[in-house]
This record gives sequence, C-alpha cells and structure tokens, in this order.
Amino acid sequence: MFRMLALLSIGLIVLSPALLLAQDDIANTAAGAGGCLACGSFLIFIVLAIIALNIALLVFVYRDAQNRGMEYAIVWLIIVLVFGPLAAIVYLFAREKGNLVPCSHCGAKRLDVSAKCPHCGNA
Ligand SMILES: [Zn+2]
Repeated sequence: MFRMLALLSIGLIVLSPALLLAQDDIANTAAGAGGCLACGSFLIFIVLAIIALNIALLVFVYRDAQNRGMEYAIVWLIIVLVFGPLAAIVYLFAREKGNLVPCSHCGAKRLDVSAKCPHCGNA
C-alpha cells in the first residue's frame, strides 16, 4: 500500500506539468500551477509522513523485541518492513509479555521477569 501511494504521488507530480501544458488558457495556467504546487506539496508531505511513521514503527518493534530479549528481533523487523502496521499489531500480541524496567547494571530496558538482562547479561 505504501509503495502504491508513493508511486501514485510521484506519478501525479511528474504528470501535472504535462497536464498544465495541455491547457491553452494563460490566466488559468497560473492558477493551475499554484494549485498544482499546493497539491503536490501536500502529497509530498503525506508521503514523507507515511515514511516517517513506518521508520518509527520499525525502530519501536526492533528495540522493543531486543529489550524483551527476543532472539528474532531482526526477523520481526523484516516482517514489519514487508507487511507494515498489520505485522506490528501481530507483534504486539506475539511478543514476550511483561513490564520493561531499567537494568540495575547497565540501565538499558529489560523485562522485569527475565532471568538475565539481554544487553549486559547480568541477572
Ligand atoms: Zn543490563
């Protein structure tokens, strides 16, 4: 979906000057250009926002899986990268349950029920 949105907005941005050139009314061309610029900027903003949200989601899932000492944090990262927010929801149900607390040795977050810290290995 994300890729389709990106392609669609890139297509619109590339095509809109051609649509403008196809019009022969000079007065409307300026207004059209302004509207095109505003609409294009909005589309670029939407695409950038979607990219930023996806990156934030990836960082959250990877760090959360590492903090919970899950062996396959990188696999979850790839799954969320491929399948998007739906996979992140599945991750929330599949992850190790429990509260994250700061480790008394290294200060990084760890599960309060885990036998040892996934970051420094202390109990
Ligand atoms: Zn630690």
